[in-house]
Amino acid sequence: MTALEINDLGYSFGAKRALDGVSFALRPGKFTALLGPNGAGKSTLFSLLTRLFVSREGRISVAGHDLAREPRAALSKIGVVFQQPTLDLDMSVMRNMRYFAALHGISGREAQARSERALAQLGMVERAGEKVRDLNGGHRRRMEIARALIHEPEVLLLDEPTVGLDFKSRQAIVDHVHGLAERGLTVFWATHLVDEIRDYDDVVVLHRGRVLAHRAAAKLREGRPLAEVFIEMTGGE
Ligand code: ADP
Ligand code: MG
Repeated sequence: MTALEINDLGYSFGAKRALDGVSFALRPGKFTALLGPNGAGKSTLFSLLTRLFVSREGRISVAGHDLAREPRAALSKIGVVFQQPTLDLDMSVMRNMRYFAALHGISGREAQARSERALAQLGMVERAGEKVRDLNGGHRRRMEIARALIHEPEVLLLDEPTVGLDFKSRQAIVDHVHGLAERGLTVFWATHLVDEIRDYDDVVVLHRGRVLAHRAAAKLREGRPLAEVFIEMTGGE
């Protein structure tokens, strides 16, 4: 069973075709990049995977659960960090975690234990008492990732999680997310930054709503610089 499988998925905004015939499956416990230039359809795909948008075209299956037929079961296996941050700046890190836990029906000691575990996985335990407002951009992102793990999902979706961050903060996030994949989580990371792919196991290249390639990152790197291959695939956009 694959962690995430998509078959012939399509989506339009009116006359605008945002996704067309998208099919692929992610290898479980791997770190896969969804690489594509701005406007490729990455965020639209994430909206469909989290049922913010619903499409009648195609099928999505999460850990063996059909998203349309068993939405609750499927969604319980997905954790997501959206492109736009959704943190409450005036709450402490721990309050944010506990609040999110409550939304998932997790309370009391269990919520505390899970919050601590998730924060530890992102190296954020020492920050538990700090207000989100006082954290730097990298730590805010890490707190959002920790929060997305509170219900112990099997698949973690990250939409451009390093945009706007400095190199060191980006690298810290990549390293922690690698740690999550090593512990068995299936990670799907959307990015338009071609230099980030050196950090991944697999790459799905999305362009104008279509999958151009899906392969091991090492294969995409073979011989030629990755940037060159990507520019050729997407026509330099
Ligand atoms: P990416 O995340 O890869 O940058 P998006 O999924 O945001 O791409 O957008 C894919 C395409 O769909 C783009 O052409 C974008 O302009 C269009 N699009 C996205 N959201 C909407 C919307 N709410 N209404 C109309 N068009 C949209
Ligand atoms: Mg986007």
